[in-house]
Amino acid sequence: MEKDINTIRDNYQNVILKSDLFESEKPVKDVSLLCPDFYEILKKCFADYQSKYPEQEVCISETYRSNQLQYDYYEAGKSKIKKNGMHHYGIAADVAFMINGKFSYNGDYNYLRKLFKDSGLTVLNWELGHVQYIKVEEQNELRSEIGKL
Ligand SMILES: [Zn+2]
Repeated sequence: MEKDINTIRDNYQNVILKSDLFESEKPVKDVSLLCPDFYEILKKCFADYQSKYPEQEVCISETYRSNQLQYDYYEAGKSKIKKNGMHHYGIAADVAFMINGKFSYNGDYNYLRKLFKDSGLTVLNWELGHVQYIKVEEQNELRSEIGKL
């Protein structure tokens, strides 16, 4: 894995597992649950985006996701994953925009996704607003490493 798995594991063990939001059945926006290395890169991308579009702001609509909520999304046909998606490990975020003070999906996703990719993050072809820290082909390795906890 290209990214440091120890910081991901430490964040999961010391922050996520101990959080009151661990079993949250509602979407979580709290950025304190994100792996700090991942969040630092996100913030830099958001700032770069805003220097091109000063009237816009990138906002995060979801950070951490409990397995209960992941299962609800699966059942509702909103996600293909039943459990242990990357949101659950604090290494994925769903992003949208604030334009003139209003929540919006009409920002420049192409440019934002380019900034993510150029910073070594992974975007998905099938989910415009989703960004994650590790590559899709690394997900199973991560799940098995964290599963040893
Ligand atoms: Zn997502």
